[in-house]
Amino acid sequence: MQLFEPEEVIVERGSEASAIYRNLRNALPHIPFRIVDAVSTENGRIDFSAFSFGDAKKRLFLTRHKGEFLKKCPGSDGQVCCNYFVINFASNCPMDCSYCYLQEYLADNPELKVFSNVDDLLTEADELLTKHRRFFFRIGTGEITDSLALDPYIGFAREIVPFFAEQPNVLLELKTKSDCVEGLLVLDPKDRVVVSWSMNPQRVIDLDEHGTASLSERLLAARRCQDKGYRLAFHFDPIVEYPNWESDYKEMLDQTFSSVDWRRIAWLSMGVLRDTPSLKRIIRDRFPRTQLLTGEQVLCPDGKLRYFQPMRVDIYRKMLRWIRRAAPTVKVYLCMESKEVWEQVFGFAPSCEKELGNQMAPSL
Ligand code: SF4
Repeated sequence: MQLFEPEEVIVERGSEASAIYRNLRNALPHIPFRIVDAVSTENGRIDFSAFSFGDAKKRLFLTRHKGEFLKKCPGSDGQVCCNYFVINFASNCPMDCSYCYLQEYLADNPELKVFSNVDDLLTEADELLTKHRRFFFRIGTGEITDSLALDPYIGFAREIVPFFAEQPNVLLELKTKSDCVEGLLVLDPKDRVVVSWSMNPQRVIDLDEHGTASLSERLLAARRCQDKGYRLAFHFDPIVEYPNWESDYKEMLDQTFSSVDWRRIAWLSMGVLRDTPSLKRIIRDRFPRTQLLTGEQVLCPDGKLRYFQPMRVDIYRKMLRWIRRAAPTVKVYLCMESKEVWEQVFGFAPSCEKELGNQMAPSL
């Protein structure tokens, strides 16, 4: 995979003492660093809103995070939620998938930011996990960024994995479309860290997952992590329907299960392509050659567009059948789907998010 390299690193004053700053300086000695007082549209300071979404990804901005780091995953109205927590250690992503919802979600705030105050993040996580020792948490870092694509520069994994590896009531999930796992391979996850990949056939990667690792690079990275004691997860999401999707997805599943030991897979998820009317307009403008916009979609109660329900059920059932052939007892869930779809695919729907969270908790 071609590693992303920022054109410039812009550091908000006060972040120079952080470990992330040190890691960046060591990894990018040839890139210009600029210290600024603050980001503001006033007084001639940097105005990130002047950059297009694509241009904003070319510079890396290091700043302190002012709010809370840990949040419950917002889920989607009317859909079954999997009771997941997210840590936002960065915002936006150096890769550029056509369907990425961040194009809409971060439209007014597109700068590629990394937060320097990791010590505050760990303090917050420690308080939450200590206060609720009887509750089993799944916490992920890949909601508004990719968990590992910046890791070769920022070294975030080595700042947090040792902490989470010692916690009795959590699994930390690092979710990526990169193969940037070198930093993980020297750490001991002690069975508390899941490295997960969003997966698609190479055809979809070529057309719509720009700047990401190829399918075989993702699987090689997964194998290397598994060999070092990490649990794995795979997210077949977004599943894209097109002529011959079945043979491509079946082949991708065969490749996946022949590359890793499925018994050490913590969970799999499935979700079809979803977008919104305004995201579709952005995709059309930024990626006129995409093939994502050809299929018919319907507006769902949560305001998202998805394929027709019978088509979604058909896709999930087929995927599940192919998964079960290779990995009969692996845990599988649907991402952002309705109870009706759950029932038609699995024959049941979790009665509440806690039940689903418990189902996903691994035997440790
Ligand atoms: S890897 Fe994820 S966060 Fe990054 S551009 Fe693709 S969909 Fe967006």
